[in-house]
Formats: sequence, structure tokens, C-alpha cells
Amino acid sequence: MPRMSIARYRNISNNIDCYTVDNSYSDFDRNSFTCVSCNVKIEFSREPKNSTLGPFFKNWKNISHLDSCKITSIVNNYLQRMGIEEKDIPESIANILSMIIPYAKRLNDVKRNYTEREMFIKLLSSKVTKRFLKSIKDLSPNEVNLFEILTEDNQLVRLKDLVLKQDEIIEKLNQTQMSFVCILEGKINDIQEVTGGSIRLNLTISKWYNRTKPFHLFIPKSYVNKNEKSIKKVLNKKFFCYAVAEKSGDFFKMDLYSIEHQLLFLD
Ligand SMILES: [Zn+2]
Repeated sequence: MPRMSIARYRNISNNIDCYTVDNSYSDFDRNSFTCVSCNVKIEFSREPKNSTLGPFFKNWKNISHLDSCKITSIVNNYLQRMGIEEKDIPESIANILSMIIPYAKRLNDVKRNYTEREMFIKLLSSKVTKRFLKSIKDLSPNEVNLFEILTEDNQLVRLKDLVLKQDEIIEKLNQTQMSFVCILEGKINDIQEVTGGSIRLNLTISKWYNRTKPFHLFIPKSYVNKNEKSIKKVLNKKFFCYAVAEKSGDFFKMDLYSIEHQLLFLD
């Protein structure tokens, strides 16, 4: 089983990412991390010295994932397709194979509870997100078609269905009437301060390429300070943004908490 970025911790409904654990290691009981899919015990590991890989979760010694584990089946499918062994999985591919996407149904519950919401935002805006986006950027369009990603409720989604342009997101929101996590591919051409101190980043609109309708990224007031230095850098650059797409009144938007981690420039 390759390195995993996200684990379950005790009975907490929000999963934990490896960087959060790394930042406050002594706050966690190292015996209590389990696989998000099959719930067997897994181990947190810090990056070995001289390595650029970062922290991760790995198999607990002599404990295998269950046959029902969806992450294991995603990994095995990949190994079969490529005709390689587990030790030969490139690090960037491991970041994609072991990624877990929050599922739509939970997003509404998260909104109602402050602690849940804070934990959810932490997971969404963690360094794991940046690592995931970088790995996707390195894939060829053909490769994007090959990957499936696991959701928190053990469903599989095709990676190509997660990477969307603004019109595609709006269409899906209108169809399902439900918020969902996805990767927006877009460009910002206008930064607007909203009454109250929040920031709106308006996406470029053009006649082509599924970019015909208004859509914006919204930095809530309490996150403006943290992002202040990066805000101007987003102008006129193509990017991937990993966030929750939602309809708010007449607007379609995604909340952005960390430009550094949720946004990856493509040019
Ligand atoms: Zn498992």
C-alpha cells in the first residue's frame, strides 16, 4: 500500500491530514489512526531526513488493509494497468491514488456546526490539497481519464469529472441543487472588495471553453489577512482551485481559505 495523505482518527467525522498531525504530533494518539476506507489501523510517519516527500500514513506493521478496502482496489487497478510493482509507484501518482474527497451530503452538516466547520476548512486548505493539485497538473490529458478518486462515503468518482470549468460547475449545481467538492479550472480578471471586508475574485468570462457565465471565488473576511500578500498574484493566471462549489442566492461561487494551498497556477 503506498503512502496515504489522509486518515480517520478515532470517531471524529472529519478526516485528518498528515500535515495537521505533523504540526501537532504530541496532541494525537498514534495508535488511533485508521484507513478511511476499511478502518484498519495505520501508522503516521514523519518524512525521513533528506527527503522531500513530506509526512504520510502507511501500513501498520503486519496489518494489511481488508479485501473490501477501496483504496487498495484503486491501487491494485493502477498496478495491473501499468504492469508495475507497488514500490515503483511514483510519488505524485501515490498522492492521487490515496486522495479522499469530502462527499456532498456532509457539506450541509458541516455548515451547521462551528467545530466541524473549522476542521473541515483545515482539511480542505491543507498542504495535502496543494500536493494533490500538483500531481494532477503533471498528468497528461489522457492520464486524467484513467484515474478514479475515493470519496469519504466510499464511492468512486472519475478524476476527469472532478476537474471542471465554471459553466460545467454551474450546470451541475443547477441540476443537483447540492454543493460539491471539485477542482475549478479558471482565470481571475477582477478583484473586488465586498462591503464588510470580504474579497471577491471574479472569473474571466469569454465566449468559449465553458467560461461564459459569471462565477467567483470568495475569501471570507476572517481569511483576508492570511491571504493578503497573495491576492494580487492571482490576476490573469490560469489555475486549478480545489474547493466546495455552491450556489448562494443568485451567485455561483467557491469559498477560498488559502490561496497558497487551494490554488495552483498552471502557466
Ligand atoms: Zn484500507
